[in-house]
Amino acid sequence: MKKTYVLVAVAMALVAGCSAGAAQTPASPPVPTSSGGKAAESPSAVASPASPASDKWAKWGLTALPPAPAAPADKPVKLTATGPVPVFSEVPTKDKVVFVTIDDGAEKDPKFVEMITDLKIPISMFLTRDIVKDNYGYFKPLQALGNQVHNHTTDHAQLSKVSAEKQKSEVCDAQTALTQQYGKAPLLFRPPYGDGAHTPQLNTSVQQCGPRAIVLWRESMQIHDMQYQAADKKLKAGDIVLAHFRGPKDLKGETMTEMFAEMLRRIQEQGFAVARLEDYIQAG
Ligand SMILES: [Zn+2]
Repeated sequence: MKKTYVLVAVAMALVAGCSAGAAQTPASPPVPTSSGGKAAESPSAVASPASPASDKWAKWGLTALPPAPAAPADKPVKLTATGPVPVFSEVPTKDKVVFVTIDDGAEKDPKFVEMITDLKIPISMFLTRDIVKDNYGYFKPLQALGNQVHNHTTDHAQLSKVSAEKQKSEVCDAQTALTQQYGKAPLLFRPPYGDGAHTPQLNTSVQQCGPRAIVLWRESMQIHDMQYQAADKKLKAGDIVLAHFRGPKDLKGETMTEMFAEMLRRIQEQGFAVARLEDYIQAG
């Protein structure tokens, strides 16, 4: 009994993860659903030469999402190099698209790289230096597919609880390491748990370290279901969705690709495409 209790408690704490304590999230804790249908979701290697695109989706137990529209020529989000950085959790657009962001970087499942290579789902990666530094290389094939790396601190500190000096090093030192590893300075920053996002102190640190916006989220993917901030529990055009690089030990035995497939089903059911967040942003 004791062992079971401990495992459940740990799993719940990890599921809460990035969203725990965030002012942006609903008060109720996430309640992951049971792992029914797992067998049906397992990728199968069966492929028919007749329709390779839909076979790629079928391989992962999925129905194809609608294709994303062309990137808007006039970017709805315009960032500048000076002044306070904006904080946003959705993009103002009428396109029926949502944006997928994936945080931290703990799980480094090769199957996920295969899935993204197959399905070409655009993702934005908010990486935490000390969580990815054992294998920076894992994220490079994902980057090579056009997915950008952004800043999610050095060690996932709760930023409102640390000194101004530590806060700045959390942003600046991660910015330096990620720039060095991935060859491009992160454009965006996300504070762990969304904590401190609206404070002048963090805004100043982000400005000084290089990122040009603080990006939060509207929905948070759990194991099978999404947590919605909106009372109607529906995706809206331009919503930013949060997911995590997590594996079986954090997902009650489910894999990263099973979690991601569930997320795509929730998006597909509601008729949305996944667009690339950076395509809607003008860096300035
Ligand atoms: Zn995080």
